[in-house]
Amino acid sequence: MHHAEKLSNNVAVSLAFILSLLHINNMLNTIPLPKHNWPILQPGWVWLCGAGPGDAGLLTLHALNALRQADVIVYDALVGSSILEWANPKADLIYAGKRGGKPSAKQRDISLHLVELANKGKKVLRLKGGDPFVFGRGGEEAQTLVQHQIPIRIIPGISAGIGGLAYAGVPVTHRDVNQSVTFVTGHDQSGESPSSLNWKAISDGSQVLVIYMGIKHIARITSELLKAGRSNSEPVAVVTNATTDEQKVLETTLGTIEADLAAANMSPPAIICVGKSVLMRQALDWQSMLSGNAPRNTDPLNRGRPAEAS
Ligand code: SAH
Repeated sequence: MHHAEKLSNNVAVSLAFILSLLHINNMLNTIPLPKHNWPILQPGWVWLCGAGPGDAGLLTLHALNALRQADVIVYDALVGSSILEWANPKADLIYAGKRGGKPSAKQRDISLHLVELANKGKKVLRLKGGDPFVFGRGGEEAQTLVQHQIPIRIIPGISAGIGGLAYAGVPVTHRDVNQSVTFVTGHDQSGESPSSLNWKAISDGSQVLVIYMGIKHIARITSELLKAGRSNSEPVAVVTNATTDEQKVLETTLGTIEADLAAANMSPPAIICVGKSVLMRQALDWQSMLSGNAPRNTDPLNRGRPAEAS
């Protein structure tokens, strides 16, 4: 074999080796997605997409399809690097984070930036934490795009108030506990605790409350709920950085949450769940069970019967 031929053989072998490594690391290559008419992200379009609460495994297939095609990705503070790793390596990553609760002066700038990118013929992915239409201003961004004649697609995501609680072992509905659930934001547009909310109605109307962005105004929120008739001993869970490696969970009560939160040194992002479904964590804390611990109590609601006896 000629020297040159040998060399090119070696190169080919190394290339094949590198490719096989890439292969192993790329689920999409080893297990091709079944046919599904995967939509094509066209130049000049903006796809508004939920990235889920943090764990990349909670991305939807549509999100993955979008991440692979976009040439510009405009992402929020709550979208972590473990999610962006799934993007096309050639994509431009643009950070558009805002600090929670601050007046959204920059919101319109972000939307107009999306308009500009689309008008330049980019394939734009707007990636937001959780679900884009749950307390994420996705509706406003989408509306601005539509007002500028930019074609859009919306890709829902797993909202932190559902998926984040599930990772903490708290079912957002549970037949023995609640037939309704209310999602509440602890901030309004001004960044203050939402004075427009009728806390009495919320408290009376829903056995379980899931509060987004609630940490800053927790004192006000708990006092409103207590005033509305909820009990001091009502169970509450606070889940910060849900579904990520930094996830922390605090189990407390309405009466003790303020002091416990201060002591626990937990910081946003946090989901706060108020209601008896929090008790179910004693049985369903699957992450603790993954680490080898036994469930604390397999009948936390004291039904005295199997979970599914009729
Ligand atoms: N669209 C998002 C919510 C955006 S508002 C969704 O559907 O989940 C931002 C708030 O969401 C945070 O202040 C926090 O209350 C909540 N949140 C988002 N991701 C979270 C996470 N990983 N852990 C806990 N809370 C989270």
